[in-house]
Amino acid sequence: MATNRTFTMIKPDAVKAGHIGAILNQITEAGYRIVALKKTQLTKAGAEGFYAVHSERPFFGELVEFMSSGPIVAAILEKDNAVADFRTLIGATNPAEAAPGTIRAKFAKSIGENAVHGSDSDENAKIEGDYHFSGVEQF
Ligand code: UDP
Ligand code: MG
Repeated sequence: MATNRTFTMIKPDAVKAGHIGAILNQITEAGYRIVALKKTQLTKAGAEGFYAVHSERPFFGELVEFMSSGPIVAAILEKDNAVADFRTLIGATNPAEAAPGTIRAKFAKSIGENAVHGSDSDENAKIEGDYHFSGVEQF
């Protein structure tokens, strides 16, 4: 079933660099409504759990270290066609390949430290949002 929600994290690199406000502004300017929002930090085990689908990839260890290295901002976002449109808004995984004006083109440092996460399917958006927010934290 198609939904109208996606899940994002502003990653430790972008939080450290002071880009929370600019990134949230670009997201809301693009028409997303914030359903849930918090600043938090993933434990190593939490990052391993969140990215379990990538556990066999060569970059998994680095990814877990990076994602647990500092605070993040987690959010559930709502808009028509939320998942696909958000992938367009953030741009390619590698900022060198991200379209001009996309969040990763503007704020990401590298393919690993790439400023933001965006869910890749409606099913994962629901799983990832529920990983960070209980039912009474989603409005
Ligand atoms: N990643 C990495 N090296 C790579 C590919 C990915 O460090 O060669 C990291 C990067 O932070 C990326 C995350 O792993 O955002 C998840 O990878 P995925 O392929 O799902 O990219 P995304 O969906 O975030 O664009
Ligand atoms: Mg992905």
